[in-house]
Amino acid sequence: MTNLSEELQSRLKDIAFKKSIPFCYCCYKAAPSGTCTTCFSDDLMRLVEGVGVEYGTDWVIEHLIQESLTPVDTTDSFEDNVRKRASPKGLPSGLRI
Ligand SMILES: [Zn+2]
Repeated sequence: MTNLSEELQSRLKDIAFKKSIPFCYCCYKAAPSGTCTTCFSDDLMRLVEGVGVEYGTDWVIEHLIQESLTPVDTTDSFEDNVRKRASPKGLPSGLRI
């Protein structure tokens, strides 16, 4: 029997790695290759753009969970979509009311 929570954790970690990039705090620059091109350190933090820089992936996972739990304003975007579809702009000029 597989340990679900372990599998889930490793998946979350996977996502966290994909959603963040390695970041050298010493040189204060991203190191997407996993090694800093300036100081050649591989002791790197993780950077999530617009969120922060920190060691480890736990905080990235936490952020991702929080982000996905934050209710996106679906009503608005849905209405926008309907409005766009209902827009008469796409109609031939002869059909304008
Ligand atoms: Zn560096």
